[in-house]
Amino acid sequence: MPTKRCYYEVLGIARNSDDTVIKASYRKLVLQYHPDRNAHDPEAEVRFKEVQEAYEVLREPAKRQRYDRYGHAGLSDGPLGPGDGGDAMSDLVSEFFGGIFGGGGGGRRGGRDVRVELTLDLEEAYRGGRKSVNIPRKEKCGDCSGSGAKPGTKVIKCKQCGGQGVILQGQGFFRIQRTCPYCSGRGQTIPDPCVSCQGVGQREVSLPLEINIPAGVENGMRSRVQGYGETPAGGGAAGDLHVFFHVLDHPFFQRDGRDLACEVPITFSQAALGAEVLVPTLAGKPVPLRVQPGQQSGDQIRIPGWGIPEIGSGRVGDLIVVIRLETPRNLTKRQEELFRELSGLEEAEVSPQRRSFLDRIKDFFTGGEGEVAQPAPETEGKKKRGAK
Ligand SMILES: [Zn+2]
Ligand SMILES: [Zn+2]
Repeated sequence: MPTKRCYYEVLGIARNSDDTVIKASYRKLVLQYHPDRNAHDPEAEVRFKEVQEAYEVLREPAKRQRYDRYGHAGLSDGPLGPGDGGDAMSDLVSEFFGGIFGGGGGGRRGGRDVRVELTLDLEEAYRGGRKSVNIPRKEKCGDCSGSGAKPGTKVIKCKQCGGQGVILQGQGFFRIQRTCPYCSGRGQTIPDPCVSCQGVGQREVSLPLEINIPAGVENGMRSRVQGYGETPAGGGAAGDLHVFFHVLDHPFFQRDGRDLACEVPITFSQAALGAEVLVPTLAGKPVPLRVQPGQQSGDQIRIPGWGIPEIGSGRVGDLIVVIRLETPRNLTKRQEELFRELSGLEEAEVSPQRRSFLDRIKDFFTGGEGEVAQPAPETEGKKKRGAK
């Protein structure tokens, strides 16, 4: 087994090179060692293959990461996945050589994949269902039957390249063929372009499609609809449609996986005496919640089964209610009177809760059992504050 050279060495670049450097070096070397310029040179052929292989790995972040970590062994399942990378490679080469080595890349797989974003509010994500989206697609222009020429006029041979689609540049040994810039390699020009498609021969259309929304879908999730991508101009299988779900934030509920959280404001008297309050849910119907006498601001109460269903398991999460005590504003005269009376009572006797709070503060400053000097970083802050 011949020993493989390091991919970075092959491309003559540093290990921390970014994509631009990798691509630039690849372009330079692939031109240098291309078989067309090195006919019957076995060394160039080896180099050419080496460069291609190195580029296939280093241009893809996931493969590059595996290679960086495990070396060539990390890629034993083959650096060239089926139908993956090979196309990009031939695209890059044809970009330089005007497609004169056509056929080397093998047949195209089919049309391009299309990506759409489907924006949902949290209620829609909770319920699931169906929603219509407009998918951008390219279709043959009906006015010119795809030729790009205004009806009644014709497509003519490119005068610059004589219909070859490529031109020769440079001198002697360094003559290279390049894509004709005048006709972009098509070999044809359209003196009188079709008005509807501006001479492209295709039109961008919007096709409505009903998308299935799984109940509980999360922001960033995606689904693939096979065969709903672009149809290639020359015929062949259509690409796929990738739907990216974008779930909007909710003004009232915060989502954490399958759990939902919301803040529920209660009044002083509700917190002191206890009460039953209604909590809104994503299902639309509010659920009753028992506020206990002495309920504190910040207390969390879990209401099981009022969260969001989890895709796959179907388990429904909980609704976590965070109690927020609302300090009354704009008191009426009567309310003020009552609060003043209450305030007089509080000064007369320290309530048990207040005592325990004061005790805790005292413990904190005098230092409880956990205050033995330790170098552990967690106790650092506590010690400093305790020392005051
Ligand atoms: Zn047209
Ligand atoms: Zn041309």
